[in-house]
Amino acid sequence: MPKFNNRFIDQLPADPSRAAGTRQVEGAAYSFVEPTPVAAPRLLGWSNEMAAELGIDKPASGSAWLKALAGNELLPGMQPYAMAYGGHQFGHWAGQLGDGRAIALGEMLGESGKSWELQLKGAGPTPYSRTADGRAVLRSSLREFICSEAMHHLGVPTTRALSLVTTGDLVVRDMFYDGRPAAEPGAIVCRVAPSFIRFGNFQLPASRGDVQLLTQLVEYTIREHFPELDAKDPQSVLQWFTVVCERTAKMVVDWQCYGFVHGVMNTDNMSIHGLTIDYGPYGWLEPFDPGWTPNTTDAQGRRYSFGNQPGIAHWNLAQLGSALMLLGQDAELMQAALDSYRTVFDALYEQRFAAKLGIKDAKQAAPLLESLFSWIQQTETDYCLLFRNLAAALECDDPLEALAPAFYKPEEVTAELRGTITSWLNDWRAADDRPVADRQKEMNAANPLYVPRNYLAQQAIEAAERGDNSELETLLAVLKRPFEEQPGMERYAQRRPEWARDKAGCSALSCSS
Ligand code: AMP
Ligand code: MG
Repeated sequence: MPKFNNRFIDQLPADPSRAAGTRQVEGAAYSFVEPTPVAAPRLLGWSNEMAAELGIDKPASGSAWLKALAGNELLPGMQPYAMAYGGHQFGHWAGQLGDGRAIALGEMLGESGKSWELQLKGAGPTPYSRTADGRAVLRSSLREFICSEAMHHLGVPTTRALSLVTTGDLVVRDMFYDGRPAAEPGAIVCRVAPSFIRFGNFQLPASRGDVQLLTQLVEYTIREHFPELDAKDPQSVLQWFTVVCERTAKMVVDWQCYGFVHGVMNTDNMSIHGLTIDYGPYGWLEPFDPGWTPNTTDAQGRRYSFGNQPGIAHWNLAQLGSALMLLGQDAELMQAALDSYRTVFDALYEQRFAAKLGIKDAKQAAPLLESLFSWIQQTETDYCLLFRNLAAALECDDPLEALAPAFYKPEEVTAELRGTITSWLNDWRAADDRPVADRQKEMNAANPLYVPRNYLAQQAIEAAERGDNSELETLLAVLKRPFEEQPGMERYAQRRPEWARDKAGCSALSCSS
């Protein structure tokens, strides 16, 4: 029997109403809500690793667990609820948002002794659904499932996914926002994390001047999720905010190292644990371009582009900090805590990119990195493949040859550019005197070969929509060992093919999900 310990609802105030329909929820951290049953649940994706931690066997069709993962039945101990939170969307305060289609089933004790919140995304309407339907389509659910597991195996802090279930129901979406709505297969992901508490959970009571609820939420979060701090110590809020800043810095450094672009870094999509959360129109940087964003809704302002992510995370932390100021924090100390984000970010970034270049002395790596970022923009160059192939370039007679798979338009690599790159390669090779094999080992552990490129996910989606989940399974298996060369899996380690350049889902993603 699963062990549930539903701390969030046991310790925090509930919305007294259980009425259907949307509403403003004040003075409460969450609302009790039941998932809405679906027609014909079928298991499409399963994470063995997450299941092992939770002690759950892969559910057979018709089993109680499969029904639970589709929202059709509750198991003993499950107490479903939706959280109340607010947020800044694209830089503007949006008021109450909340779990509009995510419904928590409860918190479960894992084999490791850690506690995990299980949450169904796409399980039906809640008081926070506003004008939307509470559902999710297969394409976005599969993308969330595959990417959160891939991120975990890359070592990037992230929420996890236990299961991907198709519902047998259709969901209508106007994918291109052009007045052509179409029915698509629906799906539900069961996401798993220590908690799904976001910056926005604290911002909402702060925006309403509700000091009591804000205090309760902060004390709860520190007590249950940051046990190394003493929730009763008057300094604990400041210490906790510092930890959140540090963890967020670590997460964004990882994103920059691997070329992950979140796409919608609103403050309601920022986890208090420093986990990557809410996979929507995210993307993987293929041709290196700091201005690139996969999110078509953000194509104009490019607020959430690759190069803006570190600054946006800082801005989001500042919003969290200002919400916490309501608890009587010292402004200067809070500012210093916020500043720690930059210090931690800069130090880690320097260190991690030095490892990507296989250079021991980070100070020596910095100018080389800067010039690399300049020449890789002169012709479309695949971000992941370039870094990965540098290891081979260390011992090639013609190091430029080793980099060839990273260039999208080989004809653009002119004699002049070849000259620039060759001279860079010479400087870079000379920047560390360790044995080549040692440098290569360090680099191969810092530069993944396999990432869930947008077009690979799209191929898995198209197969799954035809009822074939083999592509999803293979992709998931490959992404479990992102740093290891896997013979026979070369096709998962190639630059985006030309047919995918402008194809929907392969380079540009709609927010509609
Ligand atoms: P997102 O941009 O996905 O982070 O979502 C922003 C807000 O819209 C959150 O409060 C979501 O719960 C809500 N939302 C997004 N899609 C839906 C949907 N299909 N039904 C209900 N609420 C939704
Ligand atoms: Mg969200």
